[in-house]
Amino acid sequence: MITTSSALDLANSLLRSCPSCGGATWRAALTTAEVRIVTCAACTLGQTLPPPAESDGGEALSKDAAYYRRFYEEQSEFRRRLTIPMLQVLAEFASTGQILDVGCGLGFFLDVASRHGGYRCVGIDMSTAATDFARCTLGLDVRTGDFSKERFAEVFDAITMNHVLEHISAPVPFLERARTVLAPGGIVVSSSPNFAGWLARALGARWYGLQPSQHVWQFTPASYATLFRRAGFSVLAVRTGSLYYPWGPGWKAPAVWGVARAAAILGHGDNMFLVARRP
Ligand SMILES: [Zn+2]
Repeated sequence: MITTSSALDLANSLLRSCPSCGGATWRAALTTAEVRIVTCAACTLGQTLPPPAESDGGEALSKDAAYYRRFYEEQSEFRRRLTIPMLQVLAEFASTGQILDVGCGLGFFLDVASRHGGYRCVGIDMSTAATDFARCTLGLDVRTGDFSKERFAEVFDAITMNHVLEHISAPVPFLERARTVLAPGGIVVSSSPNFAGWLARALGARWYGLQPSQHVWQFTPASYATLFRRAGFSVLAVRTGSLYYPWGPGWKAPAVWGVARAAAILGHGDNMFLVARRP
């Protein structure tokens, strides 16, 4: 429950100006036992209050090599399959060239993109454990560090970001940095959970994509596009898909599975892909 004193703390931690549109009016959208989500009245961007401690690459597991080892051993093929929708969107807008995957983690996307997509691949992630793994086990060209400070000798034809921007406190400078390492006409393909999707609305605090201990922002298609335009990009497409929901026994898991797919087909899925071009 939000008490009066914690409500004051929340008010003090609110970022007054919306990073997507510059608006300054926020409306209560969702309250859980731990956090409140407020949305920008102008562009619908959601903000998690208080801001999550595990943001900007500071996730608790980022240095845990055993976690990543287990992750690889138990989920390798499953995680590779999950990269396919992103690769399909990328291939539609940039069928060849050199790509940079920002927040590449263990490197599953880059592994699939290089072996099956024919791309020349570079990755960067702040997790020492994940990037060690990507280099040593998958043999990928992956750097360890903060993307916003890294200096690249290369210029890229495309940048991919898979569930990254919702973790970044200052997303506009982050995207402006992305623009500078892209070739003219280069594209960004970025995915994030869709706070305006049907399942997000139906499940509220139980929605898997909320992740309030890590997600600074709860993006919607409108606020996502506004953010990229503010950072100097031309938005080419915003599409929705579905987060992963396993089929299971009983009626709840199949019901969620079905709604997730129907919503994605009808443009209200709870995952989204944005494609933007550097002018
Ligand atoms: Zn806004």
